[in-house]
This record gives sequence, C-alpha cells and structure tokens, in this order.
Amino acid sequence: MINVTKVFLPPIKEYHKQLQRAWDNQWLTNRGELVLELEEKLKRHLEVSNIIVTNNGTVPLQIALKILGKGGEVITTPFSYVATSAAIVWENCKPIFVDIHPEYLTIDETKIEKAITSKTTAILATHVFGNPCNVNAIELIAKKHDLKVIYDAAHCFGVKYNDKSIFDYGDISTCSFHATKLFHTGEGGAIFSKDINLQHKLFYSHNFGHNGALAFHGVGINGKISELQAAMGLSVLPYMDEILFERKKIIDYYGTNLDLLQIQVLKIRENTLWNYSYYPIVCRTEEQLLRVEKKLNENKIFPRRYFYPSLNTIEYTKGAMMPISESISARILCLPLYVGISSQQLKTIVSIINENL
Ligand SMILES: *Cc1c(COP(=O)(O)O)cnc(C)c1O
Repeated sequence: MINVTKVFLPPIKEYHKQLQRAWDNQWLTNRGELVLELEEKLKRHLEVSNIIVTNNGTVPLQIALKILGKGGEVITTPFSYVATSAAIVWENCKPIFVDIHPEYLTIDETKIEKAITSKTTAILATHVFGNPCNVNAIELIAKKHDLKVIYDAAHCFGVKYNDKSIFDYGDISTCSFHATKLFHTGEGGAIFSKDINLQHKLFYSHNFGHNGALAFHGVGINGKISELQAAMGLSVLPYMDEILFERKKIIDYYGTNLDLLQIQVLKIRENTLWNYSYYPIVCRTEEQLLRVEKKLNENKIFPRRYFYPSLNTIEYTKGAMMPISESISARILCLPLYVGISSQQLKTIVSIINENL
C-alpha cells in the first residue's frame, strides 16, 4: 500500500539514546532538558529570532487568535486544512473568507481590503504547501488598517522567503510537527514571534499563564510539549538534509514524467527557498480527478484530496462563495511523497496518472 505520506522514523537506537536522558533525569515534562535543547537546535536550524515548541500545531493557532483575534472578524483563506478556520470559530472569532490566487493557492492579497470592516481584528493566512503568501503586500495592508497578522505556517519547516525564515514574517507564525509533517515529534508544533512583548505573552499563555510557581501573568492554557516528544524531534532533526534531498528527487521525477500539459502544478512564489513538503496536481475537472484517484486506489495507491472541501462550504463557517478555492479544492490531489518510496512505485504512479488523464 502506498499512502500520500509515510512517517519518517529515525533508527530506534537513536531515539532510545534520547529517551535515556529523560529516564536519567526522571523528568518527563514542564520544559525539561530535551525540550530546551530542541528549541535551541531548532532556533539555529531555522535561523529564527524566537521559538516556543508546543504540543501540536493547533493550540498555537488558538493562542494566537485569543491574543490577537480578540473575538472579532478574522480574514482568512478558504484553502487550508480545517484547523485554520476551526481555530477561528473555536476562539469565538468570525472567519471572513477571501478567495485564493489560482496558481500560488495562497490568499489573494488583492481581495483582502474589500473584506475589512470595523470589526476586523486580524488576518490569518496559510502558507499552503509551504508556499509563502504575499507577505509584503499583506504587511502593508495590515499596517494601513491597524490589523494583526497570523500565519498558519504548519507546512513551512525550513522555508525561507527573501533569505529570511518564513516564520519571522507576520506578528505570529505557527508550525505543526505532527507525524505527517516534514519535521515531526509525533505530535507537536511551534509558535514564533519576533516581537519581544508578544513572545512573552505567548510563552506564559502556553503554560497556564504562570509567572513562577505561585503567580500569574494572565490567563493561559496548556500548550507544552513533553520530553518524550522532544526526544523524537532531537532524533529526527539530524536527518532533515537527507529528507529534503530525497523529497526533491521525487518531486523532480514527478515534474519531468507527469503529463504537465494536462494538469496544473503548484507555482512557488519567486524568491522562495521551498521545502518540498507536498506535491499537489490540479486536474482539469473533478471527473478527471475522480477517475485518476479511482485507478490509483485500485492499485493500492492512496493520494489525498488536500484540501477538500473548500473551508467556506463547511456548515459552521457559513462563508460566502469562493469560486476559485471551491474550483481548485474539487480538482486537487496530493501525490505520494516520502523518503523510501521506490523508483518502481513512482513509475507506476506516474503511468497510471498519465494513462487516465
Ligand atoms: C497539520 C495542520 C494544522 C494542525 O496541526 P496539528 O499539529 O495537527 O495540530 C494546522 N494547519 C494546517 C494548514 C495543517 O496542515
């Protein structure tokens, strides 16, 4: 069976070695030695100003929205994983969708201003598939209208834009270290802000608001990651170069062998150092997609319809129509992409797709 992804597992000996440290310390959570080391190593690896490693990629979105969304209207993309708009609704904010760019698949910044009202507090956009939003244009709009910018950068491990980590754009960025993501800790994530005051708020918010053992800076929640998960992160991190190298090879194979006259592929924004996180193809019609998917499934190959449905069509968001996002969502399929997929398997995938377009 070939799935859209397969978790990268480091040699178990290396994980054991990291776990042994937790045993030796008799310390499993509350920001122990392994979590602190993971944060230091990630800070250097990603070249970011700040990082707080968290228990997943959704709680940091909630924390960011709690602090910056403030129960107002949050302008967002309809083309993302459901966590993006679910977090907005969960935090009692109202998602206001703005359609996406048809090739970059990120929020269409030229349509943002029309969606701003007196109730708008923030913009929450996704760098979907690791492809950066037009961060410079969004920053100008936010400044002009006094809005905060949050980026769901769940797919962005290692992405640079204009030679700077993508996590350093916006007021707050979040990442996911879920097992299906590029870099993982089993479950995990991170939250980033280069603003020192905001960083302080994020920090205490992810630890019940604690100011030492007996006092509180303010309200907080539990967004902490454990030593056991940090041990996984410390074991996976040394393999990132190898992982990227292998994924690039697979993407190059798809790019040179798929019938690109029949399908659309992701256009990466200029000046981006990308991370090869996903390989989506956009078919001409949904019928074409379903035909290709069915044939692949018959051969035990399971790509995923990332991201379907368009988030504005979900019952609880009740968004306006988003023609581009709805059209892309109905026609997009993410192909299998992971370390260890064989060239024979890739050949099979490509020939099934080309024959059924
Ligand atoms: C995976 C993902 C999340 C959620 O991350 P978890 O670590 O699973 O909580 C949020 N947004 C996007 C775009 C994602 O793909």
